Amino acid sequence: MADFKKLSESRDLTRIERIGAHSHIRGLGLDSSLEARTSSEGMVGQVSARRAAGVILEMIREGKIAGRALLLAGQPGTGKTAIAMGMAKSLGEETPFAVMSGSELFSLEMSKTEALTQAFRRAIGVRIKEETEIIEGEVVEIIIDRPAAVVASITFSRRRINNLLLFFFRTSLLVTGYGSSGGSSHPPSSSSSVSATKTGKLTLKTTDMETVYELGGKLIEALSKEKVQSGDVIALDKASGKVTKLGRSIGRSRDYDAVGPHTRFVRCPEGELQKRKEVVHCVTLHEIDVINSRTQGFLALFTGDTGEIRAEVREQIDTKVAEWREEGKAEIIPGVLFIDEVHMLDIECFSFLNRALENDMAPILVTATNRGITTIRGTSYRSPHGIPIDFLDRLLIITTQPYTEAELRQILDIRAQEEEVEMSEDAKVLLTKIGVQTSLRYSIHLITAAALACQKRRGRTVEMEDISRAYQLFIDVKRSTQYLMEYQSQYMFNEVPREAEDEG
Ligand code: ATP
Repeated sequence: MADFKKLSESRDLTRIERIGAHSHIRGLGLDSSLEARTSSEGMVGQVSARRAAGVILEMIREGKIAGRALLLAGQPGTGKTAIAMGMAKSLGEETPFAVMSGSELFSLEMSKTEALTQAFRRAIGVRIKEETEIIEGEVVEIIIDRPAAVVASITFSRRRINNLLLFFFRTSLLVTGYGSSGGSSHPPSSSSSVSATKTGKLTLKTTDMETVYELGGKLIEALSKEKVQSGDVIALDKASGKVTKLGRSIGRSRDYDAVGPHTRFVRCPEGELQKRKEVVHCVTLHEIDVINSRTQGFLALFTGDTGEIRAEVREQIDTKVAEWREEGKAEIIPGVLFIDEVHMLDIECFSFLNRALENDMAPILVTATNRGITTIRGTSYRSPHGIPIDFLDRLLIITTQPYTEAELRQILDIRAQEEEVEMSEDAKVLLTKIGVQTSLRYSIHLITAAALACQKRRGRTVEMEDISRAYQLFIDVKRSTQYLMEYQSQYMFNEVPREAEDEG
């Protein structure tokens, strides 16, 4: 039945998947006792780091701890981001996983602390349980019998509708203006529901856009044609969009089952407020913020253009959520905030994080860096990973190790499969050798380039010649540096090398 658990496609995973670098990662590859399998769910090697990440994952799942922070530290290309992605994939759909890179904070659109606050609140889920109350005489429930297009309508008094807007409208189309109240319609999104109130207000809920347009339009048209009024019991056939009036409500409990192949209507006894079922909505605090931010409006959720949100709005929301928690209506689901390139944060950001982690709603913070001892941004002090010692002290640190040749080979195999590139054994051996001498990343890049070279000569399998062609066309860091050393005098702004000055 209706299940609105699905938390936002807002999962930042989509963003990462599009980049594709980690699309082969489907989890952490652990067994039931949290031991890392050598190669599983796209993950290879890095056994102890994955095991440690698994323990953190268990802590997140149990949801008992707040404000823990983790640092994945290791050389470039040793799978830190991959491990974080593995964690994200292993979390249930309800647990939010927000991703950002340290460098994103330095945008001109909002202050650093605002950006961090938004990131934190994107990583905090609120699970709201609603008992659906049904009042006699109203259209109370429409179930469209297709998992992908669940439609459930619930009738609420006007006041309750206003409360619910908060949660529904992230993804729902509100069809106002039907019946006596007049009004306008709001733009739709990927999920909606239909409901009617005494004043004839309708809310439509489905999970796909097309249905929304199709159904929303048809429904309004059909309802007006049939002159449906509040209190009428109607049937809506999804396939034809036809509305049939089944009569007025008749003070007797009766379920209208299977009215047509796709629809079912339920009414409840006269005058009685009945609790029927529990509906669960999962949203993030950030989504609630945006919906309630007058300057932004819920549309900002789709454009991503949220701008700064006023502190008062957040305070009100926190108070409301705290009330719901007390009433047992809502639970907080602390999720994960992943900050890659954490060394890009400056001293202000670190002190903000220190404070933010104290909050009892704080998510688990997972950070990653490939820096050694370096300057803390915004200061002239140096410290491990460019992270202030007091903050570092809060972190559980997981280190990642360089890969062995065999592991490299396995990762390259998985990537080739992921990119649907067929490769001969010789080519794989050569590619692995190149990987050992250059870097994992460079050799992963060569897969695509070699596949193109192969395509060009109308081959079907990538051979050694394709790999070496790609290797010649694109130079790795080592060769690039060598080249620069030889020809630097011919470049712009070339300088005499500075005396062993280490920038970190
Ligand atoms: P950096 O410090 O430069 O950000 P990183 O440690 O985050 O590097 P990743 O981006 O995770 O490195 O790894 C580079 C590439 O190798 C990615 O495509 C990643 O998915 C893949 N990869 C790394 N480690 C593994 C692994 N253990 N199993 C499978 N794929 C991996």
